Amino acid sequence: MKAIHIHETGGPEVLRLAELPIPQPGPGQVLIRVEAVGVNFIEIYFRKGVYKAALPLTPGSEAAGTVEALGPGVTEFAAGDRVASVSVLGSYAEYALVPATQLVNVPEGLTPEQAAATMLQGMTAHYLSHSTFPLKAGDTALVHAGAGGVGLLLTQMASRLGARVISTVSTPAKAELARAAGASEVILYTEQDFVAEVKRLTGNKGVDVVYDSVGKTTFEGSLNCLRPRGLLVLFGASSGPVPPFDLIQLSSKGSLFVTRPTLAHYVATRAELEGRSGDVLGWVASGELKLRTEFVYPLAEAARAQTDLEARQTTGKILLKP
Ligand code: NDP
Repeated sequence: MKAIHIHETGGPEVLRLAELPIPQPGPGQVLIRVEAVGVNFIEIYFRKGVYKAALPLTPGSEAAGTVEALGPGVTEFAAGDRVASVSVLGSYAEYALVPATQLVNVPEGLTPEQAAATMLQGMTAHYLSHSTFPLKAGDTALVHAGAGGVGLLLTQMASRLGARVISTVSTPAKAELARAAGASEVILYTEQDFVAEVKRLTGNKGVDVVYDSVGKTTFEGSLNCLRPRGLLVLFGASSGPVPPFDLIQLSSKGSLFVTRPTLAHYVATRAELEGRSGDVLGWVASGELKLRTEFVYPLAEAARAQTDLEARQTTGKILLKP
């Protein structure tokens, strides 16, 4: 089968197309024929070596496709089932293995592309808006990278819950997308100081919650946008890890919640996985949640996909097609 293979950590050039044997499912595993692969920032952290993994490896975690074969002991799925997961080991490939406990059925009416575009970023937006800081009518949230994959979904969920969303983005085109997703106000941080704008927009009060996936370049400003006892949710580091900070100074500004980048957020238990993925896949199927998947690349162009994501050239979801 064709797969992307990494032999050393580094820039996008380490992502090379290779011919590898189709993996065999072990006990509790399912082999899927991959039809759409979700590209996520976490795969960039692994490629660079920010997150450690044994090499060589086929990157990836999220995919949708069809069940090809079952390992010993798997009874919940059958060959031909349409499935998706955020635990597809080495999803940048034509075939990949998934633990059966972390696989869900794709509802009728959804394509593999829609399912792959929904799972990881959709469940992330779900836990951020429904669990980490459960938004309600009247709350004000600041969402960084408002036209990104998580950003567009989080903005839609937040505005459906009645919250006022203020977004930050880098370009006017991205501002349009964030507005269309439900942001009440969008700040072009490339032209305006986002802290001053948030203060102006909230009458100096500050926001109830900041959802910050950018990290290094936004962290300090995010703290300064909080209302007293507001919550800063740090769930990513697209611009790099946050610099060391003074906890005493931090505690005078608000509370900090750092999300651990583990699957435990959405797949701690089978029931949680089914509940959260069921919600988001259902909202996409019913049209309540809109996906943006303008960026679809052939598997062989995985390096380009990651380069574009890192260079802020993309909006919404990025997919690879084996
Ligand atoms: P996005 O589509 O949001 O892409 C990243 C965006 O961040 C860019 O488009 C850009 O938007 C903005 N950005 C600002 N500064 C930089 C920079 N220096 N370099 C690159 N991008 C920058 O990506 P995803 O939706 O895939 O992921 C968003 C973040 O959420 C990532 O940090 C990821 O690790 C995290 N995440 C965390 C999860 C968790 O459970 N903890 C799960 C899923 C994602 P603009 O041009 O508007 O500035």
